Amino acid sequence: MSTNSDFVRRDLAVLWHPCTQMKDHEWLPLVPIRRGRGAWLEDFDGKKYLDAISSWWVNLFGHANPRINAALARQMDELEHVILAGFSHEAVVALSERLVAITPVGLTRCFYADNGSSAVEVAVKMSFHYWRNRGQNRKARFITLTNSYHGETLGALAVGNVALYKETYAPLLMEVISVPSPDCHGRETGESWESHTCKMFAHMQRALEQHHEETCAVILEPLVQCAGNMRMYHPSYLKLLREACDRYGVHLIADEIAVGFGRTGTLFACEQAGITPDFLLLSKGLTGGYLPLSVVLTRDDIYQAFYDDYSKLTAFLHSHSYTGNALGCRAALATLEIFAADNVIEKNRMLAEHMRKAAAPLADHPHVGEIRQHGMILAMEMVKHKKNREPYPWQERRGLTVYQHALKRGVLLRPVGNVVYFMPPYVITPEEIDLMARVAAEGIEVATRAG
Ligand SMILES: *Cc1c(COP(=O)(O)O)cnc(C)c1O
Repeated sequence: MSTNSDFVRRDLAVLWHPCTQMKDHEWLPLVPIRRGRGAWLEDFDGKKYLDAISSWWVNLFGHANPRINAALARQMDELEHVILAGFSHEAVVALSERLVAITPVGLTRCFYADNGSSAVEVAVKMSFHYWRNRGQNRKARFITLTNSYHGETLGALAVGNVALYKETYAPLLMEVISVPSPDCHGRETGESWESHTCKMFAHMQRALEQHHEETCAVILEPLVQCAGNMRMYHPSYLKLLREACDRYGVHLIADEIAVGFGRTGTLFACEQAGITPDFLLLSKGLTGGYLPLSVVLTRDDIYQAFYDDYSKLTAFLHSHSYTGNALGCRAALATLEIFAADNVIEKNRMLAEHMRKAAAPLADHPHVGEIRQHGMILAMEMVKHKKNREPYPWQERRGLTVYQHALKRGVLLRPVGNVVYFMPPYVITPEEIDLMARVAAEGIEVATRAG
């Protein structure tokens, strides 16, 4: 039987891995996975790892989930995929009905793509195109938050703001209007999240006042900037933004690709502000972590701006080969059935509270600057100096030390920069949360001991 080293040799001969300096693998072992069950992964040597990050935030109900597997097997026997232009199928219709029913009221149309970045491209093009169809030709710009992340394709990269991913490609990207993030990490000692968040809205207010005539939309990640070091803010920002966007005639694009499907404690993060965005973007958890699929939900008035005689050339002529893939839609339907049948959001409240308690002792650690949480996302920020929250230089790669320690102990933690976080599948047990927290505490201790 193959072992890890057999597989790693074959892999490194032919693969180029995502988000990786491949030279690291001269000393950093690659982990080949033979199988997954529930919250656990198992490698080719039989070692098990608790998947504390849901395999990059996609898995919701465990690996090899029997219910999703069964639904997929049935779908596979009927139809794997069909062109969605001019044709349709049962899974995509049923899924669209469900999404319209469970997302914030007013979102009535579903447009599909096959990954998160593509959904961002769709929303950016759709918003721009809407204003053109309405005769507003001046509108061609987008407002975005600092520290935001919206994916890796050129349009998505342009509206994002994480320098590490963006800077190299800057000459290729459209220019955007960048507004300081309401991220509460920077608030004054003793200040509440809500107060800081509302104060930061002044920057957005000013940008809208100045640029609304040339701006198509504001795009943001509701409540948590995940790739931007799990920075968080208060829902009041979304409420203020909704009002301002309405006032100035600018679209609001809510990128819930990472935070949707219960991550922040509610099914969708926008619910916590009681708002409906003009575009809602979903992917990652949409298929329970099974298959690549994304969707852009929008409102009827936006849909109507494209609806006309063919010769008017107002149609949205955008497509991807795998748009509305039947297997992906079926996995998504099975995922939504689990949400409904198992009372997931309610149960997650107990898991989130357990995570809070399990991580709480780390608040006193001399190199933990902050512990923050929105529902099922909990983040611990490692800092060089607790008092002024001075960060560790990125070159020291302290997060990587935590990653390596956790792997040894059978937990998959993959810090972003100096931020160790938990974003586990919802099938995790309280005992597994305790293990995850124990290993994170050890990892932080090891990573911050030197220097
Ligand atoms: C992951 C992510 C994306 C990009 O999705 P991909 O499927 O990786 O292209 C966009 N926005 C946010 C908020 C994300 O977390």
